[in-house]
Parts: sequence; structure tokens; C-alpha cells
Amino acid sequence: MEFEFKTAEDLLKLTKKYDHSISTIAKWYEAERSNKSEGATRTQMKMVRDVMYEAVKKGIKSNQHTEWTGSGGDAHKLFNSLKDLKNMMGNKVTVRAMAYALAVNEQNALMGKIVAFPTAGGAGVIPGVLFSCAEHFHAGKRRLIKGLFTAAAVGLIIAERASLSAAKAGCQAEIGAAVAMAAAGLTEMRSGTPQQCLDSAAIGLKSYLGLVCDPLGGLVEVPCIKRNAIGAMAAIGASDMVMAGIKSKVPFDEVVSAMNNIAKHMSSKFRETALGSLAITKTGNEIKRKLGLKVTEEI
Ligand code: SF4
Repeated sequence: MEFEFKTAEDLLKLTKKYDHSISTIAKWYEAERSNKSEGATRTQMKMVRDVMYEAVKKGIKSNQHTEWTGSGGDAHKLFNSLKDLKNMMGNKVTVRAMAYALAVNEQNALMGKIVAFPTAGGAGVIPGVLFSCAEHFHAGKRRLIKGLFTAAAVGLIIAERASLSAAKAGCQAEIGAAVAMAAAGLTEMRSGTPQQCLDSAAIGLKSYLGLVCDPLGGLVEVPCIKRNAIGAMAAIGASDMVMAGIKSKVPFDEVVSAMNNIAKHMSSKFRETALGSLAITKTGNEIKRKLGLKVTEEI
């Protein structure tokens, strides 16, 4: 296929060959791969954006809590803090990005409709970052779609060369991947070069290497929901560093290889089994008992 890419290096070559952005190459590849027109591919991405937007809108108003961990209502609290930012250290963009990220993952925990982009557990980072920054730039829908296509290209490389599954690679493959994708998408929305988008992704992912999957009671609620909010801040930070002229010493492809290397050596206790880390703390075990799950050890 003409626009196929499996690595960041392939993708960079394509952007140079056709003199186009990552988002355009990603869109052309998706059209080619799915045998759809460019227009239909864009329409599909618009649908993704609309579902994300609905989750954000619903989540920031919700005061509903989940049954087992009591998660919920935090997006609403944080969004309300935007009315008076003088007590917050983050600015309007970062606090709003966190609120949006929480909103999506709270909706996920409440069985609402979300886009698993790249996964359900990490679904809040990308809409959190891209929607909040788009509001700041007064960016049109077209610019937001570009950010989403660039994020998708980065996710595809991670899926090809490592994994997007927490069962295989821990939380580095969920929140870490989402941070890399969001950082690259944001950099493209800021008119960064393809190399800068990939440097943003590399800096974002590097910061999440080795992150384990340790959900309380095996539910995608704690620590998952708040990890999305912090991930949104990390993605904005990675993009800011790159836009200030900072480069990633390690290229994105090598960072993905490092992630894969960690995944191969990661104990199954830290891969979605709820048998290690936070999942076996006193609090984690209380949730297990409530759920009627077997408690194996406590740290
Ligand atoms: S802790 Fe596990 S379930 Fe929760 S977001 Fe991370 S990878 Fe997903």
C-alpha cells in the first residue's frame, strides 16, 4: 500500500515524500486500508470526535458515583474550579484538560458511551488535551480532526511495534500510549513539524515507561480515572517542551522498543490481573472483599 507505515521512520519518510503532515498521511492510509474515500474517512473521524464531545459534555455535569469504588463527580468539581482559578496552580487550559479527561473516564466507569481511543482505560487523555487546547486556540473543527488523525497515527505505530493492551504491557500501553498520541496530536494542531510531533510523542511515552496496571478490584476506575487527568497534563507538557525547541534524545521508534522490552519482562501481577501494586493495598483489598473477590496478599 502506498501510504502504509509501521514505524515513525516510515511515517516521516512519507511526510517528506508527499510534503504533507502526519494527519494527512494517516488519513490517506486509513482511506486506503479501509477502501473508503477520503471524505468518508474524515466523516468517520468526525463521528469519533462527536462521541468524545458528548462524553465530555455529560461527564462535566455528572454527579453520579459508581457502586463499588464510589468514583464520580470529580470532573464536575474540577470543571467548576474554572470559575475561579486563583486558587489553582494550573492555568485554564490545563485544568480544563484534566476536567475533560476525568469526564470521559467517569462516563466510562458509569457505562456511558465513550470512544476507546486508544483504549477504554486511557480514553480521557486525548479528548481532554485536544478539546481544551482547541478551545484555547479557537481552533475550528478541521484543526481538531487533524489532531485526532495524528494521534491515531502514533497509536498505530505503538500497536504495530509493541501493544496497546494492558494485559500485555501494563498501563504504559494505555495511559502511556494515550499521552504519546495526545502530545503528537496537540503539536500538529500547533503547526509543529512531523518530527516535532514524533518528538512530543517520544517525550510523552518516555515518561510513562514501566507504568503498571493495578486497578482496584480489577475495575477501570481507581487509579485509572485520575491517571487520565495527570496524563493530559503530561501530554501538554511534552508538546510545550517541543514547541519551545526541545528535542527527544531517543527517537520515538526506540522508545516504543523500550516499552516492548519492559512489557516482555513485566510480571503478570502488573498486567491487568489486580494482583499487585495498588490493587493489593489495604484499600484495594477492601474493594476486592466488597466484590467478593479472593484476597491473595496485602502490602
Ligand atoms: S491501571 Fe490498568 S485498567 Fe487502569 S487505565 Fe491503567 S492499564 Fe487501564
